Amino acid sequence: MFKLPDLGYSYDALEPYIDARTMEVHYNGHHGAYVKNLNAAIERYPELSEKPVTWLLSNLELVPEDVRTVVRNNGGGHYNHTFWWPQLLKNENGLPSGELLYDLEKTFGSLESFKEEFKKVAMARFGSGWAWAVFHDGRIILLSTPNQDNPIMEGKLPFLGLDVWEHAYYLKYQNRRDLYIDNFWNVVNWVEVERRYQLVKEGKHPIEL
Ligand code: MN
Repeated sequence: MFKLPDLGYSYDALEPYIDARTMEVHYNGHHGAYVKNLNAAIERYPELSEKPVTWLLSNLELVPEDVRTVVRNNGGGHYNHTFWWPQLLKNENGLPSGELLYDLEKTFGSLESFKEEFKKVAMARFGSGWAWAVFHDGRIILLSTPNQDNPIMEGKLPFLGLDVWEHAYYLKYQNRRDLYIDNFWNVVNWVEVERRYQLVKEGKHPIEL
């Protein structure tokens, strides 16, 4: 059985950038439902419940067809949100450092340019989905995915992700996804992102799941 992981901090820890009510609904309501639906989908396939989520997402063609879409959506939702919570920490304009900062500046010219490019990708995702920074083929690439799809499904390892589903920001920001993205940088846990960056540079998964 898959389990909802601990949030690791209080619902109001990211105020005022992400409000407590959004966190509560997002964590319990949305992530909770992904876990519940994933467990329900694989009930008849006990061998699947012993597989890591990363395996399920990397091998969707091996998942029985009658539950493949449910596993894709809810396994993806479980992975993406397990990736999301520890990546957040109120940093008030904190910055990345070390090798990550060096590589971002080398790739995009400056940290500000990286943020602008990332914002463009996140704004361009029509409807629900995620924006990602991945390390693939020896370089940093920005991309977005629809719904609860993620880069793992296409063999790419992410080190930074942004949930741009309306459920992630609508209570506070309504239609202003742009303001939500601008404020996202105030709640990025750069220490965790740097840790993940080191892992994906070595070809390892950024989180265990
Ligand atoms: Mn979400």
